[in-house]
Amino acid sequence: MLHNMADELQLDFLGELTRTNSCGELRASDAGKRALLMGWVHRRRDHGAVIFVNLRDREGQTQIVFQSGIAEEVHRRAEQVRSEYVIAVEGHVERRSPETINPNLATGEIELVADKLWILNTSLTPPFPMEDNVDVGEDARLKYRYVDLRRPRMQRNIILRSKVSFAVREVMYKLGFHEIETPFLTRSTPEGARDFLVPSRINPGTFYALPQSPQIFKQLLMISGYDKYFQIVRCFRDEDLRADRQYEFTQIDIEMSFPREETIFDTVEPLVTRVCEVAGFNVTAPFPRMSYAEAMRSYGIDKPDRRIPPFHILKTPVITGGPFTVAIHIPKTGALSRKQRDEIKAEGQQRGLRVFDDLKKVDESIANAAREASGTGEDDFLFLVESTRQEQGPRPEETYLKACGQLRLSVAQKYNDKHKLLDPGRFEFLWVTNFPMFEWDEEEKRWVAAHHPFTSVLDEDLEALSSDPGKCRSRAYDLVLNGTELASGSIRIHRRDVQNKVFAALGMDDAEARRRFGFLLDALEYGAPPHGGIALGLDRLVMILAGESSIRDVIPFPKTAKGTDLMSEAPAAVPERQVRELGIALRKTT
Ligand code: ASP
Repeated sequence: MLHNMADELQLDFLGELTRTNSCGELRASDAGKRALLMGWVHRRRDHGAVIFVNLRDREGQTQIVFQSGIAEEVHRRAEQVRSEYVIAVEGHVERRSPETINPNLATGEIELVADKLWILNTSLTPPFPMEDNVDVGEDARLKYRYVDLRRPRMQRNIILRSKVSFAVREVMYKLGFHEIETPFLTRSTPEGARDFLVPSRINPGTFYALPQSPQIFKQLLMISGYDKYFQIVRCFRDEDLRADRQYEFTQIDIEMSFPREETIFDTVEPLVTRVCEVAGFNVTAPFPRMSYAEAMRSYGIDKPDRRIPPFHILKTPVITGGPFTVAIHIPKTGALSRKQRDEIKAEGQQRGLRVFDDLKKVDESIANAAREASGTGEDDFLFLVESTRQEQGPRPEETYLKACGQLRLSVAQKYNDKHKLLDPGRFEFLWVTNFPMFEWDEEEKRWVAAHHPFTSVLDEDLEALSSDPGKCRSRAYDLVLNGTELASGSIRIHRRDVQNKVFAALGMDDAEARRRFGFLLDALEYGAPPHGGIALGLDRLVMILAGESSIRDVIPFPKTAKGTDLMSEAPAAVPERQVRELGIALRKTT
């Protein structure tokens, strides 16, 4: 039916028509004025003699009224418009009667009584309703992304993203930074994920790698004397996708010359504060700072969610001769049932923890010490845990502390409806500093860089580079927001001799280092200044500010979890000739 109607419908030209206002602009004070609006038909209600249309553009919605008594012709034409038709209307602004005021619309005090209507285009019935509160399957949203992006929620998110980018540029320019571009067709970078490769046509058998970050280039820019660099830049990593991960993502990439850690923090704090302000949130800097070791001892994780209180290591273990005991405090859970306590115990057991949920059954002085350390209140849940496993590895107590951290988070999440501490509108920023320099790769039986191999070691740990790499602390730092890693960076190595030692600790010989990063190593010998930087994940930041739980909701055209674009159907096969030109032969798989 709709098709027939659309086919029969005579469309109007835009001609000289010009909008007087957006659809989100008119107010009671405009009553009596004439206005010409254009947009999409969000909703249409036909009451016979009166037809209401909610006209929508990116600024909002305005109610349009077509009355049969006002302009017969126009009213008849209004009968033909359907959802998502593109129309222009002209008329006069009228105040609504008090009982018809819509408090949910910014324009809800008025309506436009139309005496002219132009139908500029029709639309097929949209694949899903345009209302925000309707749950739509993600596949349909991604296939018809152009329609999905028109929905008010997505428009808010994408426009917020644009405002955030603008604020970033504003702050960075004000702080004396320059935005400098770096190449996409380059060599492998040091982040250590899998590269996306691009075959070279005129150099058959060779490949460019898309950058996992502009890391090497931003360091080169410091060596070239640009002093303060930033870039809002796309990075590419071929990793398994998750709610907060995409193959291509955007980073706010920063590098400075002659910085200390504080210099970087003093740059990022006003940046983040301003960005939050743009999104309507007030946060105060400076943000608290905590070493990695402290974070592990208090939260059992390197990205603590500080909306929930830390745990405490007790001086005396519950079981004599056992490992240290940890007191975990979750506020305002109220009394927990036997079943609920058993669930927590079972979860602890799975994580290698013995849970003491009833403090009356442990030594009174230990119970009191736990109460005192955590400042437990009336309705809070305080329980003790001890490790049941023999810890191994270079930092043996970490496995145990991490298990405590996971249990703490899991119990806190489970009872969030009671304590409501995990409020997405409350922002707890935190700098975590001095990460370990190396992690032990159990599979490859060697040390790998915890951040990347250009990260400086703390001066006092330089010695340990060759004797005890597991003890080496780095000058790497993360910015954490509510348990999410928002940014990470480091003070870099600017001396060739130190860089060699780090490569050696990583088991990378000179030839290998030269093959992978030769040009940076050469550059370090031409007057490299001390330098350092950081990169903030723009997608995650906007996701949190928009109150979304997937970065796909703040990226205009994302990929599915399987890495496909349902709209353009990428990735796709290409004609054989194109593959041949690249000097590549495809092998058939069965
Ligand atoms: N290049 C690093 C990353 O993408 C950030 C940095 O060290 O500045 O994680």
